[in-house]
Amino acid sequence: MMRLPYFTFRSPRSVREAAELLASSQPGDAMLVAGGTDLLPNMKRRQQVPRTLIGLRRVAELRGISHATGLTIGAGVTLTELVRDIRFRQDGGQVSGPYGALWQAASQVATPHLRNMGTIGGNLCLDTRCNYYDQNYEWRKAIDFCMKKDGATCWVATSSPRCLAVSSTDTAPALIALGGEVTLASATAARRIPVTALFQNDGIHYLTRRADEILTSVHVPQLDGWRSAYWKLRRRGSFDFPVLSVAAAARLTGDGAVADARIVLGAVASRPVEAPEAAAALIGRPLSDAAISDAAERTARPARPMDNTDFTLLWRKRVTRDFVTYALRELRGDDMRETRRKVARVLL
Ligand SMILES: Cc1cc2nc3c(=O)[nH]c(=O)nc-3n(C[C@H](O)[C@H](O)[C@H](O)COP(=O)(O)OP(=O)(O)OC[C@H]3O[C@@H](n4cnc5c(N)ncnc54)[C@H](O)[C@@H]3O)c2cc1C
Ligand code: SF4
Repeated sequence: MMRLPYFTFRSPRSVREAAELLASSQPGDAMLVAGGTDLLPNMKRRQQVPRTLIGLRRVAELRGISHATGLTIGAGVTLTELVRDIRFRQDGGQVSGPYGALWQAASQVATPHLRNMGTIGGNLCLDTRCNYYDQNYEWRKAIDFCMKKDGATCWVATSSPRCLAVSSTDTAPALIALGGEVTLASATAARRIPVTALFQNDGIHYLTRRADEILTSVHVPQLDGWRSAYWKLRRRGSFDFPVLSVAAAARLTGDGAVADARIVLGAVASRPVEAPEAAAALIGRPLSDAAISDAAERTARPARPMDNTDFTLLWRKRVTRDFVTYALRELRGDDMRETRRKVARVLL
């Protein structure tokens, strides 16, 4: 059985108190914990070993979802709370409309038990993943560790100057496709940045969040006329992290032409990857089979999945085209339920 290392637990009641605890800690000594579904297993594997954990579960300011102007979600809202919010449902209970991609992404994270504990803030700040890193201490010791923790070499690309561990958050690609923003607060100031600016392509320093900052909320603008969809490739349809995901959003005019669009890939780099060229190619055109195939081709071309997660990288690159096609067909209004069922089943 893997045991947690010893740590001190602090339980602040406000963002300010939590931020002051962070500010007064030695660099690297303290970490925030929300649901703990990512951090605690990492601590058991000694991938992350903070001496102090600052728990966020008692911070009431971080809870709550507002649909007043667009969408504002407290970082401490659990994925279950998000998915159960009836306000995402329209048209006789169906999940549709502009925020569909976020709902689909959140509802496919892990398992129901993990979604009951896991929060949207923790999901955005989720550690990057790699076959050589997501192992217990003894396994990693046997290969002399790796650059991301305790070692010097990257075993995925031995000449790489940086870690190539993979961004595996489901909600980040969806939120980027929706033009989302996050608020980060420290003991002295708060700033609001686009979700895309929260990430950088480095498997170790994958967030631009400063060590003294707390992600307090997520905002999505009012998206009249937009539709969105999220598709996820994983080995087990009931359970696993994404090894490829596609978030697509588009604003359609009355005659069905695309007025604006965004396509974002997840799990192909150390950050979510936008495909602006593919999205731009859709503008002014209806979502015809030809337009969708063109955008799918343009998205797949620059996608460079690494050989450090599940399935072969060549196959994952090949199916990128299919997953973009599925997402755009769903935006067009095609009934994709059977394809979703097949995608979930075929890989068991
Ligand atoms: C078996 C298994 C399967 C999983 N499958 C998936 C999956 O399919 N998709 C997926 O996306 N995730 C998956 N996860 C990971 C995890 O369950 C989710 O990402 C979850 O949303 C993490 O949220 P949390 O609140 O538990 O984060 P925590 O574990 O509490 O924290 C995660 C990280 O975020 C930081 N953090 C938390 N809250 C804040 C905040 N407010 N401000 C700043 N930093 C913060 C923590 O310091 C830590 O570094 C899986 C986990 C397991 C164990
Ligand atoms: S990509 Fe390289 S450095 Fe990063 S976790 Fe994997 S093996 Fe380690």
